[in-house]
This record gives sequence, structure tokens and C-alpha cells, in this order.
Amino acid sequence: MVKKIEHIGIAVKRLAEAIPVYEKLLQTKCYKTEEVTSENVCTAFFQIGDTKIELLESTTEDGVIAKFIEKKGEGLHHIAFEVDNINEQIHHASPDFHVLQEKPKAGADNKQICFLHPKDTHGVLVEFCQEQ
Ligand code: ZN
Repeated sequence: MVKKIEHIGIAVKRLAEAIPVYEKLLQTKCYKTEEVTSENVCTAFFQIGDTKIELLESTTEDGVIAKFIEKKGEGLHHIAFEVDNINEQIHHASPDFHVLQEKPKAGADNKQICFLHPKDTHGVLVEFCQEQ
């Protein structure tokens, strides 16, 4: 079951520049930064009510976020939906939606995550996440 929008991911070139901008915009402090080595990203989180904003900076020149920015520029990268059972969700999604991971993997913020290919979702990269 999809419970809510857990966070919205935004690709940025440099967290050091983006964090103060979003702190001013949202009038709240970034409460956590975390590197996710498996994804080659460094993330920064803002809590907005029941939802979060996740800024993503690539830690390598050829990481997914670096490639995304090269192609599309900075901006909206993905929407993450919290689910109560990610394995059930993957099972439910296939075969209509192409799940990019066979098995959920460890993501930022203590989550199990997987992504759906944007070609099946009208251009939106969708993440499912489940609290560990
Ligand atoms: Zn995310």
C-alpha cells in the first residue's frame, strides 16, 4: 500500500550552495546530510510537515545525478512514495512498470528503496521506500 509522498528528490550541482538556498526558502534547517556510497550521491534533508525534500549531489563525475544534470540541468529528480511493504509493492508493480532493481536496496535516511523506470510513469522517476 502506498501511504504518502515521503520525499521529493532534487538534483543539485553543489549541496554547499543549494542547502542555504533551501534553508532560506523553507525557513527550516537542513537536519541531516548523508552520503550514499552505493548511489554515488551525497544527500541533504529538510522536513516539511509530514514530507521531506531531499537534495542530491553527485559524488562522482559519472554518477546518475551527474548524468541527469548534464542532460536536463538541475531540478526535480524523483518523487518517493512511502510503502508499507516494498517487496509487495515491487510484485504489484511488475510487469506493468519496469522496476530498476530486482530487490530493494539500502537508500539514504535508513530506508529500503527501489525505482521505477520513468518511461512507464509518464516521465516521472518514482521511488518506493520503506522504513527499515
Ligand atoms: Zn529519494
